[in-house]
Amino acid sequence: MDALKITMPALGIDLGGTKIRAAAVLDNKILGEPRQIPTPNGPENIVRAILDLIISFQGQYILKGIGIATAGIINTETGEVIGATGNLPGWSGTPLKLVIEKSTLIPVHVENDANAAAFGEACARNLRDKQCVCVITLGTGIGGGLLIDGKLFRGAHWGAGEVGHSRISLGNKRLCTCGLFDCWEAYGSGRGMVATARDILQGLTPGQTPLVEMAPELTTRQIVQAAQKNDIVAQRALNVWHEHVAIGIVNLAHILDPDVFVLTGGLAECVDFELLHEMVVDRCMVRIGENMNIQKSELDGLAGIVGAAQLIMDAISERAK
Ligand SMILES: [Zn+2]
Repeated sequence: MDALKITMPALGIDLGGTKIRAAAVLDNKILGEPRQIPTPNGPENIVRAILDLIISFQGQYILKGIGIATAGIINTETGEVIGATGNLPGWSGTPLKLVIEKSTLIPVHVENDANAAAFGEACARNLRDKQCVCVITLGTGIGGGLLIDGKLFRGAHWGAGEVGHSRISLGNKRLCTCGLFDCWEAYGSGRGMVATARDILQGLTPGQTPLVEMAPELTTRQIVQAAQKNDIVAQRALNVWHEHVAIGIVNLAHILDPDVFVLTGGLAECVDFELLHEMVVDRCMVRIGENMNIQKSELDGLAGIVGAAQLIMDAISERAK
């Protein structure tokens, strides 16, 4: 029986606006290749797609539990989605834990995706003995997850960690996807980087930079590539974007004074950590700045999967006590 126990992983699932990724996880390590499918439209189709993914893994593993990381505000006690984001329309009100447990008869934990990523990072980096770990997900938007004394801090109404929607400017300059103006996300996310580049490109001609002609469909990848080819406008946009990312971290540092910030998500790849560290320290009170520790995720976008899987493993051992 012991041998069987050792090979029972949890399945971690990361449900995003465009894709659903899943992998079997044991002791914070991904087993085999993660699988990925496009996110279908509508809650019923999403639930069906998740169930199909689970079945495909059951051919290979005896699953001990299933952890699901999803966008939205999650009541982690009931496993219900209580607040949806624009990325998953109609998702609010889905009793996800209940539905998946009923179909699979396997224990399920549902967590906000940024929280799951934070937990995954903390587990994989042995940071659970730290006082405060702040994990920022830089992608199309900005997510945040907070661990205090090794435990996720979810707030009084499950909404803590929405750091991307803290305001960093006045004047209603940029509308955020949440409906508010001048959120950190409207500047420091991928969308923000593109908006900053477009602002700088105004009034320039294609002779000055090829980015002018790309402006209507500009992507972060194009900006980063142009900067690498010494395009001055792209370099300027990237520099301002670093400043925007830095400001949000400065605000969090003064509130939390964490042991460490970990940056994850697709856009963490575009961060010049030396430059960012310098910008953050420059803008912090001395006592806060001198202990600044900003690290890059090493989980390659899989932190949410690892975290979700570890959360259900923890919940199962907690219940067994
Ligand atoms: Zn916002």
